[in-house]
Amino acid sequence: MIVWSILMSEHQIRNYINGQWHFSSAASRLDVRNPATAQVLAEVVLSPADEVDAAAQAGQAAFLEWRRVPVAERIQPLFKLKALLEAHLDELARIVTNECGKTYAESAGEIRRGIENVEVACGTPILMQGYNNEDIARGIDEHMFRQPLGVVAAITPFNFPAMIPLWFLPYAVATGNSFILKPSERVPMASERLFDLIDQAGFPPGVLQLVNGGKETVDALLDHPLVRAYSFVGSTPVARYIYRRAAENGKRAQCQGGAKNPVVIMPDAEMDMTTRIMADSAFGCAGQRCLAASVAITVGEARDAFTERIADAAASRKVGYGLDEGVEMGPVISAASKSRIEGLIEQGAREGAGVLVDGRQRAVDGYEDGYFLFPTILMDVPPEGEIAQTEIFGPVLSLMHAATIEDAIRLVNARAYGNMACIFTSDGETARRFRNEAFAGNIGINIGVAAPMAFFPFSGWGESFFGDLHAQARHGVEFYTQTKVVIERWPRHWSRQF
Ligand code: NAD
Repeated sequence: MIVWSILMSEHQIRNYINGQWHFSSAASRLDVRNPATAQVLAEVVLSPADEVDAAAQAGQAAFLEWRRVPVAERIQPLFKLKALLEAHLDELARIVTNECGKTYAESAGEIRRGIENVEVACGTPILMQGYNNEDIARGIDEHMFRQPLGVVAAITPFNFPAMIPLWFLPYAVATGNSFILKPSERVPMASERLFDLIDQAGFPPGVLQLVNGGKETVDALLDHPLVRAYSFVGSTPVARYIYRRAAENGKRAQCQGGAKNPVVIMPDAEMDMTTRIMADSAFGCAGQRCLAASVAITVGEARDAFTERIADAAASRKVGYGLDEGVEMGPVISAASKSRIEGLIEQGAREGAGVLVDGRQRAVDGYEDGYFLFPTILMDVPPEGEIAQTEIFGPVLSLMHAATIEDAIRLVNARAYGNMACIFTSDGETARRFRNEAFAGNIGINIGVAAPMAFFPFSGWGESFFGDLHAQARHGVEFYTQTKVVIERWPRHWSRQF
């Protein structure tokens, strides 16, 4: 049992292999910092290939037993895990805020979303049922069963340290696989605590394992012959790389990438509500959400009404350390990320956008070392410029304008990403048309963050997703199982002999 202290700077993150905690032997290490203070919280090791191999071997041995455990028994540790996550929600939320920077409410919200996936995976006895037909020919029956794949792995990003591992882990093990998590090396503390709870939940050794690391660790997972499938969430270039390398190795992959989410605001939208929701979408989690609104496209007369209101909302948002009272937005993840975003704001201005609200050069009292960037609004962003297409992944909202809904939909669809597109309107026909024509897999109608519940697939399209089966629910169950079709005949004279 680990002694936990989120302020303990000598905390070395451990791997969890075959039911035991291990200190990695690796020489390569990174500091994990609190982005609000720049204080070092822990040190994470970048595990080499032999530690991945130990996890894969233990996972394979565990899989051969686990797949035979009846599904109704396999879900019992998930019920226990849900109870443990509920009991430790406050503590987990504080860890997420400290390592990732988001506010306490945002951290608690992501854990709640993670728990919902544990709950849905408890329905696996129904979700993984096959189907059958009697008498496909005289006296012959045909059945389809779903069987687990073996050892599977997930590689996750920094921005939802507690939720995203839970998009995958519960479905993988409930369907009878063993599972290896490689969390983001920038936020490994929530996963370490999650695995401490997993250790108490009653899974057999080797069914769930944690291997920390970076690219070398991921490559070792991708090339390991015992690892059969990969769930990835992160930036598009890495998603594309993992999808390609998994395919070259003959493996399954579902890879969720980056985003640049457009939101259309019609003149008949309820403007105060729209502004409130848009400010939360664009600046919540400091804009580090794959479902953040990043481009607002006003149509017709919506322009003036929305621009004025959103500028006020951006300028008045309370920025600070996420555990402090009343804070609405935390820092971005790192100093490097902050300067990358500042560079993109500068580039937007060079391309002809106006900086309507400038969040650069501002500090938070008492947290001068933190990686804070205040809400920023770029206006009249040229659609043909690079900034209109580039994922900024920070608290920056770009404004564009269109004369008609047709022009607005053209702007929405003029991008390679397809994670989310939203519309604010009070007209059903406009909303219906948008729903039908917008190029995105997650659509919001008078919604700012169209995050699918755990019982729906997280349906990114285009450059936001490589694969066919998405995360969560039925898609997760189908991804982690392979179908087996059985055709059988039992002639009477044979059965009489038995
Ligand atoms: P990232 O791509 O830098 O890292 C994600 C994971 O990949 C980490 O575990 C990291 O260790 C690993 N990795 C990084 N570089 C690698 C390489 N060259 N080879 C192999 N593995 C590598 O992403 P991030 O900065 O942690 O997360 C932010 C990105 O994630 C944004 O683009 C965001 O839009 C995206 N995201 C997408 C979704 C979605 O559902 N589509 C959800 C959350 C985040």
